[in-house]
Amino acid sequence: MLTRAIESREHTESYYAATQNKPTDYPELCESIQTDICIVGGGFSGVNTALELAERGYNVVLLEANRIGWGATGRNGGQIIGGIGHDPEQFKRQIKEFGVDVIRKAGFECCEIIRERVAKYNIKCDLTWGYTDVAIKPRHMKALEDWQKQLESLGYNHATELVDGQTLRADWVNSENYLGGLVNRTGYGHVHPLNLCLGEAQAAASLGARIYEQSKVESYSDLGDTVQIKTSRGDVRAKHLVLCGNAYMGNLSPKLSKKVLPAASCVIATEPLGDLAKTILPGNTAVCDMRTALDYFRLSADGRLLFGGLSNYSGLVPSNLEGKMREKMLKVFPTLAHVKIDYGWSGNMGIGINRMPQLGKLSNNVFYIQAFSGHGVAPTHATARITAEAIDLEIARHDVFSKIRHWNWPGGKLLRRPGMALGMMWYKLLDEI
Ligand SMILES: Cc1cc2nc3c(=O)[nH]c(=O)nc-3n(C[C@H](O)[C@H](O)[C@H](O)COP(=O)(O)OP(=O)(O)OC[C@H]3O[C@@H](n4cnc5c(N)ncnc54)[C@H](O)[C@@H]3O)c2cc1C
Repeated sequence: MLTRAIESREHTESYYAATQNKPTDYPELCESIQTDICIVGGGFSGVNTALELAERGYNVVLLEANRIGWGATGRNGGQIIGGIGHDPEQFKRQIKEFGVDVIRKAGFECCEIIRERVAKYNIKCDLTWGYTDVAIKPRHMKALEDWQKQLESLGYNHATELVDGQTLRADWVNSENYLGGLVNRTGYGHVHPLNLCLGEAQAAASLGARIYEQSKVESYSDLGDTVQIKTSRGDVRAKHLVLCGNAYMGNLSPKLSKKVLPAASCVIATEPLGDLAKTILPGNTAVCDMRTALDYFRLSADGRLLFGGLSNYSGLVPSNLEGKMREKMLKVFPTLAHVKIDYGWSGNMGIGINRMPQLGKLSNNVFYIQAFSGHGVAPTHATARITAEAIDLEIARHDVFSKIRHWNWPGGKLLRRPGMALGMMWYKLLDEI
């Protein structure tokens, strides 16, 4: 039976919430404030937009309805992968339709931003490189071969390795389910997503971004030169607004809610597996199978199996989530039959029709980022950077003109016209000489 998940304003009970580095306690917004840029939503999209803008010296306010990382960001599989899928036919269509630059940014460069960010701010988030796509059917193997060729043709700068079933089981994923796979040892990987986001929020705050939690935005009005944003106990007047509520934003912007479908996905975490962990995933990579409604899994830093799947477009979750997910996990790893499940949870991801991330502007002052279709951990980092660059460019353009010094006409109201006329006469005389 499917039911609607009951959500509280605190983190859902997950492995991530139980192992967060430090619970956040940013204040609620209870006053009227002003800022350059106000951001709605404290997931990867909002937090990274705030960080990118704070790094550029802007005055930033971030409003989160619940806690930082409360949405999909604090509940996902933690797989650092590109945002464009790997169906070679779809990939060819995407290159044709959107251009190579978009594909490179959303597909690969986004992972490098995480690498840089974790190093720059020394974020403790169990960052581990290594990822394997696994094939269930012969056509999946063929698709992986094509995909590898396409990556090479785009100049992808991480080596990938096609492996047959035997090598896959010995070195990477020890399951009879798969015919082989494509291993990416250094370009994709996995992370504790909640701790990554909390570290990024802390970095933004250290650069002056003002973060408010438990501050749900109830409405906003675009006033032309500024935007007014209202929560139940406070308000913000900003030059620019960025909407990053994704699948959890409801109808705050009816235009955006029409473009994104909230879809549920579920994850379980086993108890720590000890030596068994290495026998099931000897290469410690993140793993996805090639189906649309896929299984995705990986080990946590303390040796649990985090196993995800059961994605569905109803936005509802099975009443027996842990039992259903355990069944799926045992199909892949029957040796885990005796293992206890410590956590089970679900979350909503935003699905767009063409499965490409959505970013853009609703008006001159209002930007948005949403719809990562289940592939958002890394791509949110690229879309946040692109959005920050766009805002920066817009403000810089405005500043070029607004910084030009404009003198007051001398002579006040009475004398400025005669003064101007005299000046004109003088220059006209000079023209005659
Ligand atoms: C179960 C699951 C597994 C996934 N696994 C993976 C994976 O392994 N790899 C991968 O790449 N992607 C994965 N994804 C997708 C990925 O998690 C998302 O694409 C990404 O986290 C989206 O980040 P976001 O900031 O756009 O949205 P969210 O993280 O959902 O953040 C939106 C935030 O906005 C806040 N908000 C909404 N409305 C308001 C309002 N009115 N006022 C203030 N705040 C508001 C919410 O409280 C929320 O915190 C998964 C998603 C789920 C649900």
